Amino acid sequence: MPTREKGVRRQRKVVSEHQFRGLLESAPDGVVIVDAAGLIQIVNRQTEVLFGYPRAELLGQPVEVLVPERLRERHVSHRARYQADPQTRPLGTGVELFGLRRDGSEFPVEISLSPMARDHCETLIISNIRDITARKLADARLREVAADLARSNAELEHFAYVASHDLQEPLRMVASFTQLLARRYRGRLDEDADEFIGFAVDGARRMQELINDLLTYSRAGTQALQLTTVDIGQLVDRVVSDLAPAIAEAGASVTRDTLPGVTGDATQLRQVFQNLIANGIKFHGPNETPRVHISQRQAHGAWTFSVTDNGIGIEPQYQERIFALFQRLHTRADYPGTGIGLAICKKIVERHRGQLCVESEPGRGTTFRFTLPVGLDEKEAL
Ligand code: ADP
Repeated sequence: MPTREKGVRRQRKVVSEHQFRGLLESAPDGVVIVDAAGLIQIVNRQTEVLFGYPRAELLGQPVEVLVPERLRERHVSHRARYQADPQTRPLGTGVELFGLRRDGSEFPVEISLSPMARDHCETLIISNIRDITARKLADARLREVAADLARSNAELEHFAYVASHDLQEPLRMVASFTQLLARRYRGRLDEDADEFIGFAVDGARRMQELINDLLTYSRAGTQALQLTTVDIGQLVDRVVSDLAPAIAEAGASVTRDTLPGVTGDATQLRQVFQNLIANGIKFHGPNETPRVHISQRQAHGAWTFSVTDNGIGIEPQYQERIFALFQRLHTRADYPGTGIGLAICKKIVERHRGQLCVESEPGRGTTFRFTLPVGLDEKEAL
């Protein structure tokens, strides 16, 4: 090789070595380079910080000084295996890795390895070492919070169930005796007494309604889903025939597209369509003929079902609130109900890993839309 060319090469090598050192020193991770015998050849500044060693003490040492004693044997065999087939990859996927500081303390690490050819016969191994103490702590905290939330959620659900279930019996007693009072003593006391008894009868009946609904809501969240293939077309037809009296009374028409079979809990899905269609029939203006249409489309691995009506609609500011328990926008005199139907629908759809939402224009009508995954799996359902 001519002398000039050799000089340029050497210069390039010096520049690139210089750049390499610069990169190494500014790397946010510890970088340790070992030779084929596992002896440390190069370390960067961050390695000194992570492990608490001055660089000079590490150079020439077996890399295992940075590994806790109990894991050294495993490390040596890992290293031998890596030498036999060196490729860039993370070390020990699925295994917990630890670094050992000079003071004997340990810290969790994530390591990725890459080979670097030194000359024709030797490959160096570059390890990138990241201290993941903060991430581990954050993960553990997150898991704790999730477990706490799940526990308190289960407690709340249990509480709602027990409360509504155990209140039923005494309430039944109050309701039947106030009704008895009303029957026996109407017209035999004074007018005030008749009115007061009337309020008591009405209050007890309402409370029974609310408690029954609460129980239905609680069951919708806790009963195990019985997943089968449900023919939604047939299911909707049955719902429509159950609602025949309400449909006839309102002079409503209910139509549907061809609807698919989906995986889900038949009883629960029926509750969803029942509530949405019943609402579509119920919430219409005084001189309107309710029209409800059920349609579907499939996209991105999910079915979307829509229940559209031409009713009174919902103001945008209330479109979130209506899904909460017992939230209603009208008096019972205007539209009967307890305000639990949509909360039940939401719970059921979410247990099926879907989402329920509303689109509405006041005075023009409302569409409730919900998704159900195509081919829901037992393991996925909540
Ligand atoms: P309920 O029907 O017993 O009132 P829901 O939970 O089913 O309870 O509905 C909550 C509220 O949402 C209703 O009281 C009503 O104000 C509003 N809403 C639900 N469906 C419709 C609809 N199709 N059109 C207009 N408003 C609706």
